[in-house]
Amino acid sequence: MTETTYPNDGLRQLVEGYRHFFKGNPPRKGFCALHAEQIAHTQNPHSMVISCFDSRVCPEAIFATNDGHICVHRNMLNQVDPKDASMMASLRFAVDSLHVQNIVVLGHSNCNAVAKLKDLAPLPQEISAWLGGCGATYRGESYEDAVKNNVLDQLDRLHRLDFVARAVQEKRLHVEGMLFHIQSGRLERYDAAQNRWEFIKTEE
Ligand SMILES: [Zn+2]
Repeated sequence: MTETTYPNDGLRQLVEGYRHFFKGNPPRKGFCALHAEQIAHTQNPHSMVISCFDSRVCPEAIFATNDGHICVHRNMLNQVDPKDASMMASLRFAVDSLHVQNIVVLGHSNCNAVAKLKDLAPLPQEISAWLGGCGATYRGESYEDAVKNNVLDQLDRLHRLDFVARAVQEKRLHVEGMLFHIQSGRLERYDAAQNRWEFIKTEE
């Protein structure tokens, strides 16, 4: 998938918003009475983003979105857990009722949750139960590989959900994996067709 070819307009908006974020000049607005009036009674978000709980990763900022543009669901490890009723309710509503064009799994560099997968035993039960509850493992030659493989595992889990698979098959929905690099502000996309990661150009 090239930079200039997007599966839908929502993904184009995410990438273009990201470029504003990277340049430090995001168009995200504060309260605007006209915009508030437009969205007060309905919402029409183009994408749902599944992000880590980490305080350094803020999807609305990274994609320079305004209110009403994206739905965000966050948890440790940006995990898609079919046993998590909150996640499943959000996903189902986003796909079937809000008709989002995209679900983006947004992993990030320096993810402590991924690092903890090496050894869950010392962790408090509340944390180890969540991180290991879906059988997540630390996979890869490097820390970065492990973070990327975790994103790919979440994409697999999404595709195994029948309502997601159906929407993808009917070309109503695109599922995308991304990785945010905290130190550099760079963003990578996973190109499923080529089975490779590529950095989003910060200039188009
Ligand atoms: Zn994280």
